[in-house]
Amino acid sequence: MTSTQATPGTSVDGKPANIETRLFINGEFVESSDKKTFGIYTPSSHELVAEVFEASVEDTNRAVAVAKNAQPSWAELSPTQRSAPLKRLAALLRQHTAELAYLEAVSMGRPVSSYADSMIAAQKFELFAEAGYTAKGVSSLNTPGFVNMTLRQPFGVVAAIIPWNVPLVTLAGKVAPALITGNTVVLKSSEKAPLTSLKLAQLSIEAGFPPGVLNILSGHGHNSGATLSSHMDVRAISFTGSTRAGGLIQTAAAQSNMKNVILEMGGKSPAVIFEDADLESAARKTAKSIQWNSGQVCMANSRIYIQDTIAERFSRLFNAAFSEIHQGNPLNPITNHGPMADDIQFETVRRYIASGKASAKLALGGDSKDGFVEPTVFTDVPEDAKIMKEEIFGPVVNISIFHTEEEALTKANDTEYGLYAAVFTKDISRAMRFAKGLEAGTVGINCTSPVTGHDLSFGGWKSSGVGREGLLDSISAFLEHKSVLIEIE
Ligand code: NAD
Repeated sequence: MTSTQATPGTSVDGKPANIETRLFINGEFVESSDKKTFGIYTPSSHELVAEVFEASVEDTNRAVAVAKNAQPSWAELSPTQRSAPLKRLAALLRQHTAELAYLEAVSMGRPVSSYADSMIAAQKFELFAEAGYTAKGVSSLNTPGFVNMTLRQPFGVVAAIIPWNVPLVTLAGKVAPALITGNTVVLKSSEKAPLTSLKLAQLSIEAGFPPGVLNILSGHGHNSGATLSSHMDVRAISFTGSTRAGGLIQTAAAQSNMKNVILEMGGKSPAVIFEDADLESAARKTAKSIQWNSGQVCMANSRIYIQDTIAERFSRLFNAAFSEIHQGNPLNPITNHGPMADDIQFETVRRYIASGKASAKLALGGDSKDGFVEPTVFTDVPEDAKIMKEEIFGPVVNISIFHTEEEALTKANDTEYGLYAAVFTKDISRAMRFAKGLEAGTVGINCTSPVTGHDLSFGGWKSSGVGREGLLDSISAFLEHKSVLIEIE
């Protein structure tokens, strides 16, 4: 934050002169048809930041209609032509980092000190802008008398629905590949953090997208979200959020037009630490994984399994690393532990901590006040306890002891989630046994979340996901297949 330049219309700390609160439809900002708004309040201090216009069903239908109208001419452009506004948007996101960091800090409490989302989003727009020419089919001479081929073509209108914890990163991971492949997009942001998506909409005008190609709505799941999920003109929907809402979207998709569905959902990620691991490094990395963004991260390692022989030493190192926080106002550049995103999230985490106190041993923290939750560790947690099975989405971790490799693998996999898993060991054979045996979309060896690979698939096994995101995966996910058979006369 301190190293970024202030941009015109912003003060040095990133506070914008005006906050955009309207819907972005057909290249214009408009108020909602029924003038309804909802308030965005700063977590913990409860100050009103903005009254944001809520997309009605009518607004949502209009956004889909203009996207449908804009799609054929957008798809007719070459990937080079489509990439130009994506690249300009990437540059604008970088320039406006201070303002975007401010908007996320006041909406959902993200410390500006850890704000890299605009940079990550910019990189995604650039990577996908360059990947447009990878969208192509294959040819085959395997049928005698025929030259056959497949074509890859855009779906038409793609809907994107995103959560509040890393809004711009999630937005970029859906919007950039959907657009470069010739689809047009209607995105609904989270009702808890709509302001950075609206800022991006403003920047998209400067970037030069044709009207209707990118439309951004603010609103709740039950109206604009549900309208998009069941819309007959939306042919693919990409969602990131809870497993609960993902299930509702999948049902709505199936009950409407069987639209293609990509679901990136919750996690309860394990990290397994063996006695031969670099314990200091493992403690630092696993503590950061569950502390960053106050634990509000889908892939955070919220279950840690440690070998019995190193239990005491690892716990000491882990607790020391996990306690190293500067808690406070997220706008303060030294803060690295902000409040929970809102009162609902705060109360949810408090309930889980109360449940943990009743079923397990509290080894660190456990206190929560005025929207903030201390880094909290539970030990002796029964494998079937609520805090072991359910996603808490806070800075709360269970540390358990194992005696054998088989026991560790069985416990790590004993979950309905399967987003990310990590193993720390210097034994290459054991590392590879775990890489094969762990039931998760991503496995870290001597590293843990949020480490991911740009050119690798990202997504969940089991109830953590359907489909994959990633450089080549997302290009493919937003393209239909068509087989063309040519009989040679
Ligand atoms: P959420 O499911 O409550 O909301 C996510 C989005 O879905 C919001 O925009 C919301 O308005 C919308 N929504 C809610 N109900 C809907 C419905 N019936 N129809 C259509 N849209 C609906 O999740 P959240 O609280 O915003 O985010 C936290 C969750 O997101 C956690 O479970 C976390 O693990 C998950 N997440 C997953 C990933 C991933 O990549 N797998 C990344 C970030 C967050």
